[in-house]
Amino acid sequence: MFLTAGNDVFGFLEFGIYLVFGFWSLVFSLSVVARVTLEIALRKEFDYAIPPDLAPRIDVGTRVKVPFGPRQVNGVVTEVLEESTHTNLRPIAKIIGASSLVTPQVLKLARWIADYYCCAPEIALKSVLPDAVRKEDAHFKERLFVRVNPVRGAPPKLTKRQQDILNVIEEWRELPLQRLLTLTGATPVTIRKLEDKGLVAIAPQVDERDPYANEQILPTEPIVLNTEQATTLQRIKLAMARPQSAEARTFLLHGVTGSGKTEIYLQAIAHTLEQGKGAIVLVPEISLTPQTVERFKARFSSGPLRTLVAVLHSHLSAGERHDEWHKIRQGRARIVIGARSAIFAPVDPLGLIIVDEEHEHSYKQEESPRYHARDVAVVRGQMEGAVVVLGSATPSLESYHNAKRGKYELLELTTRVDDQKMPIVRVIDMRAEGRKQKGIPIFSNQLKEAITQRLERREQTILFLNRRGYSTSLQCPQCGYVAQCPNCSVSLTFHRRAAKLLCHICGHSANAPSVCPESKCRNAAIRYSGLGTEKVEDTLAKLFPHARITRMDSDTLKRKDDYRRILGDFRAGKIDVLVGTQMIAKGLHFPNVTLVGIIYADLSLHMPDFRAGERTFQLLTQVAGRAGRGDVEGEVFVQAFTPFHPAIQYARRHDFVGFYDQEIEFREQLKYPPLARIALLTLRGRNEDKVRLSAEHVRTELEKLLPERAPGILPGQAPRQMSDAPVRQTTEIRQDAGGTFIIAGPAPAPLARAETFYRYQIMLRARAMTKLSRAIAQMQATLALPDDVLMAVDIDPVNLA
Ligand code: ADP
Ligand code: ZN
Repeated sequence: MFLTAGNDVFGFLEFGIYLVFGFWSLVFSLSVVARVTLEIALRKEFDYAIPPDLAPRIDVGTRVKVPFGPRQVNGVVTEVLEESTHTNLRPIAKIIGASSLVTPQVLKLARWIADYYCCAPEIALKSVLPDAVRKEDAHFKERLFVRVNPVRGAPPKLTKRQQDILNVIEEWRELPLQRLLTLTGATPVTIRKLEDKGLVAIAPQVDERDPYANEQILPTEPIVLNTEQATTLQRIKLAMARPQSAEARTFLLHGVTGSGKTEIYLQAIAHTLEQGKGAIVLVPEISLTPQTVERFKARFSSGPLRTLVAVLHSHLSAGERHDEWHKIRQGRARIVIGARSAIFAPVDPLGLIIVDEEHEHSYKQEESPRYHARDVAVVRGQMEGAVVVLGSATPSLESYHNAKRGKYELLELTTRVDDQKMPIVRVIDMRAEGRKQKGIPIFSNQLKEAITQRLERREQTILFLNRRGYSTSLQCPQCGYVAQCPNCSVSLTFHRRAAKLLCHICGHSANAPSVCPESKCRNAAIRYSGLGTEKVEDTLAKLFPHARITRMDSDTLKRKDDYRRILGDFRAGKIDVLVGTQMIAKGLHFPNVTLVGIIYADLSLHMPDFRAGERTFQLLTQVAGRAGRGDVEGEVFVQAFTPFHPAIQYARRHDFVGFYDQEIEFREQLKYPPLARIALLTLRGRNEDKVRLSAEHVRTELEKLLPERAPGILPGQAPRQMSDAPVRQTTEIRQDAGGTFIIAGPAPAPLARAETFYRYQIMLRARAMTKLSRAIAQMQATLALPDDVLMAVDIDPVNLA
């Protein structure tokens, strides 16, 4: 398994190398050897000798440069050993960076990720250490700062100009030279003169890039908790006091929107800080708004627990990321708030991890390593003895199932803090509306009326449709032509403002034709069908010409601050109706919103995914939670073509448990998560035959590793929904001591072609993941695929397309 690096690469030089390195290995046979994971794509680790002068500074997590073949490559020390089973060790060339960047704990976590998610350790390592930090030349930026010197003796005589500038410096005490020059219009020479007189000092200093530097935040005090909240916090505190080895240190906090979860997070963090430990707070990228961050900064920016709050998200520049990371590593920031990858923040010691909106799919990384930050959080919590709190108004079925079987401790908040009622939800049957209005309407009469009312009362409305663009497809009613993406197996979406047909998968763009492009047809009455947010906005403008309407989706957000600007305008009452995609469904507080309309609630039900119902339930509940957060009771209109679907009906009644109970039955019957675990293998390439043959080969290889077929147990189940394309084909159940394996496929993926690649899938299911990951890793190690066919392994996939 472990090799010495490169001595066979040299061939005829071997003897000379033996002389050199044989000597080294003699010297170090007693002292120390470092086991190193290299950053280049290799699945192995290598042993190196530690030269005596480097020895004091080398530990687990130290980043090093080591010889590898004729080159030098970067790596991380994963273990320090007294001896190696290999001789001829080559020495570590040098140490990179001043301090070790990875804590041993985070390194352990990286190894777990590599094993569990079947990816190479160096890929896992790249995730836990951001590029901005890993690069050898990454460092803090230094700038010249001007600082006042304490005056001794009689002050020297100054000109009026010099005195003015000195006054400015005294006011700031210390400021970047560049800023002083801009503020005063002075030249560097003038400042040098002040320095010569001993009044100020000019020196280079680290200038931390603080993305929130210009914001004024008013400190807040803890709020007195209500009984439910107090009990909840008490149980979390008790868990923090329990010995590390004790069970049940992971909580699922199920609390309706507005039940005061965030206040509990804040007070639990305060408790962690009192114990001298730090905390990580994960929120979905989309909820990581300045508003959210400020709530945390405001609580910990003053008082005895004062600490920096570091923020990590994907919009930081490399420099900002580097600085935030080091603030954490140096222990100056003990609270980290961030999106998915913040779970790897080097907080040490770590006392608490919070995963807010734990059901959110954005916690799953859709590229290798395909980890789920919530699951990594639970594992990291166990490894480091930290308490983990998963919070949601609509928990994932996985987490709620874990709570029900006692793996997590369930905490429940059943009421809103302000005792407000949940909004009234009205489901409107759009089939009946269609008969009344002739054709498929966008707005039911009831929703139209409700909007009119809000406009009269000067209250605000949010309209939600989970699809951007104008029409979903361009179709010729005469010859049946549908505008398809040339690269993907989806139809193109018409965007009217831009007058373009766009592919939402690959971004392909084409001019919208005015007649049918089929040479034999040329029909001028070509039709745009389906509905997107753009058309909702247009229709609305026609119905309510005086309303102030704004649309918010990824098409209207072009600049970095658009999101903030639109929400700011909405909050300030400059917008009457906000139309948008799921972007507006999440955690925003708008007291004046008393109406929420969901245009087509069943759009998300018709996805080829067994979680379609769960997703719809979550979405409806979240969107409905936007209504009535002020003094006026809220109203929600859900327009649907399948109004009696359980996902819609349970959401209408705000009944999570009811939804869970019926949904879990379906999952049980079909052996889907949380009652089984899934590994999804997707093969892709430009030659469809090659992809299919490769996928068949992969299946054959897997069959060799998974136990023999048990006679008598065969398919049995037909999928209830359009849920599972691959399962239909060659489903087969294999039995082993630990449970049952189900292998389905290969079959074309639901998204059969994307960005010119054909895609085939094999879906594996088992009761427990460990055996399955192991079998896949073993298969991967020997698998030979054609160069132009790639395979992606997705453990616990969230996206099945
Ligand atoms: P959630 O995170 O569950 O949506 P929040 O923690 O954001 O709920 O609470 C909603 C609002 O109620 C916030 O403005 C918060 O400051 C306030 N709040 C929370 N707990 C209390 C309490 N015990 N008494 C009064 N107000 C509270
Ligand atoms: Zn495309």
